[in-house]
Amino acid sequence: MSDVQMLINGLAVSAERGASFERRNPLDGSIASRAPAASTADAVAAVEAAAEAFTTWRHTGPSERRALLLKAADALEAKTPKFVEAVPAETGASAMWAGFNVMLAAGMLREAAALTTQVGGSLIPSDVPGSLAMGLRQPAGVVLGIAPWNAPIILGVRAIATPLACGNTVVLKGSENCPRTHQLIIEALQDAGFPAGVVNYVTNAPADAGAVVEAMVAHPAVRRVNFTGSTRVGKLIALTCAKYLKPSVLELGGKAPMVVLDDADLEAAVNAAAFGAFANSGQICMSTERFVVDRKVADDFVAMFARKARSLPLGDPRKPEPVVLGSVIGMGTVEHCNALIDDALAKGAKLVCGGKADSTLMPATLLDHVTPKMRIYHEETFGPVKCIVRVDGVDAAVACANDNEYGLSASVFGRDTARALTVAQRIESGICHVNGPTVHDEAPMPFGGVKGSGWGRFGGQAGIAEFTELRWITVQTAPRGYPF
Ligand code: NAD
Repeated sequence: MSDVQMLINGLAVSAERGASFERRNPLDGSIASRAPAASTADAVAAVEAAAEAFTTWRHTGPSERRALLLKAADALEAKTPKFVEAVPAETGASAMWAGFNVMLAAGMLREAAALTTQVGGSLIPSDVPGSLAMGLRQPAGVVLGIAPWNAPIILGVRAIATPLACGNTVVLKGSENCPRTHQLIIEALQDAGFPAGVVNYVTNAPADAGAVVEAMVAHPAVRRVNFTGSTRVGKLIALTCAKYLKPSVLELGGKAPMVVLDDADLEAAVNAAAFGAFANSGQICMSTERFVVDRKVADDFVAMFARKARSLPLGDPRKPEPVVLGSVIGMGTVEHCNALIDDALAKGAKLVCGGKADSTLMPATLLDHVTPKMRIYHEETFGPVKCIVRVDGVDAAVACANDNEYGLSASVFGRDTARALTVAQRIESGICHVNGPTVHDEAPMPFGGVKGSGWGRFGGQAGIAEFTELRWITVQTAPRGYPF
């Protein structure tokens, strides 16, 4: 069991009056971690520490910030064994998933280090004689980052890396489901030597999330909010941000379609399908939730995919044998997915493999002949239960892919790459890969969604635009004429 502490102004602290909450392992209910249950006063103290640190951190040069971010990447990797222990204990995910998270998150810190010299600006031609006009990007202030549990290291790091690179100070609000995992990220940044107050960490009991978040968003020093999580909570955050006029980046839920056209390389498609659908038991925002398959190749695709899905090892991620599917986050996911299976089967879907689960060890499950009358056609499962919709031709495939409230990731498989690219361009999503899986993230890429999947982009130049203020500054270099 890990005892977690928050970090406020460089000090490891408990919550006001020692309040705490427990995170239990989803498989056996053992206590995985005990963490501070911050009060709104604790949360405000974290923001005030960040605001104070901003007065000096904003003036640091890019080399100093770059060196710290590079050290943080190394420190994060050095904690791999601790992450491999904490992630399965708190979330039930596999050791492989924890290791992959560390690798990509370290890459994000290194990419953020590279961005420190890319926070630029421009000279803009002015009609005023002698006016030197500039568009300058400057740090915004305190950035509040709110991260979920499902890709805990990647998303915890993503919430703060680019903001820090741009000269902001940060408060990370950890997930109630993985306070220890998120604390390890903060420890890595401390090991790297970030000055006190530049990075702060707050944890809260689940019931207090709304109040703790609002107290921070309301604080005048907080100038940007980023949130990764469900669309339901994203809408609440958007309302809170609107109340206080705070710009936000919202990375929300998904229902990614993978379109399999009639000329697809089926072996390549099945490999991408299995990875996209079942990595981390389907608990990834980019997870392939819908297979939109041309009827001409559907029988072959489904048979090959089912063979592969049945072969994926499932088990307790804390045991030495490697697994692809570990435990899902909780019984809520099991009950949600079981209800979607019942609903689909009652309305005529066919179970291809897997089926309902009675514990958090859920098998890879495929439902074929899914139609719009079934809940699973529309709703995010966020578990290893995926649906196949058979369609006739390209236009029907595009219409089906777009027939959803979400729009984060998508993919298209077809040997005629020009045709596949045209389909990709017609799909309403922030991200689309031709002949690649829907699950694909790299640090420099503009990552984000449309429609119910949110707004704003992390990654590269897009991230700089989100976490800086673009100022218009002029210098009058010649006498200026005035009308009176
Ligand atoms: P969640 O929305 O339930 O929780 C995320 C965070 O919201 C937690 O830190 C929690 O404290 C906070 N929260 C809860 N209630 C709140 C309230 N009333 N006010 C303010 N904050 C509140 O999400 P989750 O279940 O942890 O994560 C799964 C979801 O996240 C899925 O829908 C998934 O698709 C999405 N997700 C999106 C991305 C992306 O990049 N687009 C990445 C990963 C996960």
